Formats: sequence, structure tokens, C-alpha cells
Amino acid sequence: MRLVFASNNAHKLAEVREIMPAGIEVLSLREIGFEQDIEETGTTLEANSLIKAQAVAEFVKNRPLHIDGIFADDTGLEIDALDGEPGVYTARWAERETGMHLPEMETYAANRQKALRELADKTNRGCQFRTVITLITPGKTIQVEGVVRGEMTKEEHGQGGFGYDPIFVPEGYDKTFGELPAEIKNNISHRARALQALVEQLGHVA
Ligand code: IMP
Repeated sequence: MRLVFASNNAHKLAEVREIMPAGIEVLSLREIGFEQDIEETGTTLEANSLIKAQAVAEFVKNRPLHIDGIFADDTGLEIDALDGEPGVYTARWAERETGMHLPEMETYAANRQKALRELADKTNRGCQFRTVITLITPGKTIQVEGVVRGEMTKEEHGQGGFGYDPIFVPEGYDKTFGELPAEIKNNISHRARALQALVEQLGHVA
């Protein structure tokens, strides 16, 4: 089975390829020649995940790519003490405050600093990552989600992963996703759980 992953995020692509079982080939946008920027105009993870998958499905239509479907991931960090914020604005949390568009690694760092600032006086540091995946196949569109609960640290720990990983300790562990080996993150993360749900569904839609 060949699926296109509708994301330009190299970190996500690497994780998805690591997590997907043998037998499911994952093509990147670059590999299918898709070079547009997809505007995430939705106000929910579900809407943005659908927008990304639909944009690529439209591109794939009438091209001889021999693929079985397209899937897109939209992920949010939902912080309990902030009523689920930043949620759908997770990628651009600091940018929404400063108006400054920075390169990827600086954006990640600015977002982490904002998270630590926002939680500075909070005792409840509970939060979760939630990933919504939309799969579009010729016959069907489905959505699945994956959640990992955890706590936000008071400072950064570890260099692994990406985004908010150095400040997120998953439930049941005492290290951040930035410190834990990739094999552990890729077994228990929001993305891993959403992909496991997707793989279960693939049997029904293929
Ligand atoms: P989006 O799903 O592309 O909108 O990305 C949401 C943002 O969430 C990313 O820019 C990262 O900052 C963050 N993010 C997504 N997945 C992860 C993850 O696995 N670990 C840490 N941060 C993540």
C-alpha cells in the first residue's frame, strides 16, 4: 500500500516513516512534486487536518501516481490550566503574540519559552498532545485521533525530538520527549497512537 503524507515537516515525516508498519510505503510531498504552501485556515485540528489532506488529494487527482490514499496530521498542545490553549494555534503560538515570523528552530524555541512563561505561576502543569489524522482514499474520508497526556517541565531538558518535546514529560515517565529515546516517543506519542488507529482502519477502507 502506498500513501502520501501531506506535510512539509521533516520531523513529522521521519517519525511517521519510523512508526508505520512494513507494507505501508509513505511518500513525501516532495516525492510527488507538490510544492504549494497549504494555508491552515481552520479553527480546529480536525478542520486543518482535513484542509491539508484535501489540498493534496486535489493535486493527486488525474496524475498517474499510483497511490492508495493521502493522509495529513494536525497536532495541538492542549494545556489544562489554559483551558486547552494553544490548541489549534500550537505551531504559531509565539508568533501570534510578537507578530514575528522566525525560521523553524527559532520558532520552536520561542514557542517553548512562551509555554514556560505562561505556566510560570501555575501549579497545575497537566497538558496533552492531540493529533488528528485525516485519510482520504478514493472511496472514503476518515479521521482518527491520538492523545498522550503529560506534564510540562519548568525548564528545557534534552535535545531530541522537535517542537515542544524538551518541555513535555509523558505520563508514566520522568524524562521529557527531548530526553527519551526516539523508540519510546514513537511508541507512545500522540502521533504514534493516531497512526495505530489509522492502521487499524486501513483494513476497512483499502
Ligand atoms: P501542525 O500539526 O503542523 O500544525 O504543528 C503543530 C505544532 O505542534 C508544531 O509546529 C510543533 O511545534 C508542535 N508539535 C507537533 N508535533 C509535536 C511533537 O511530536 N512534539 C512536540 N511538538 C510537536
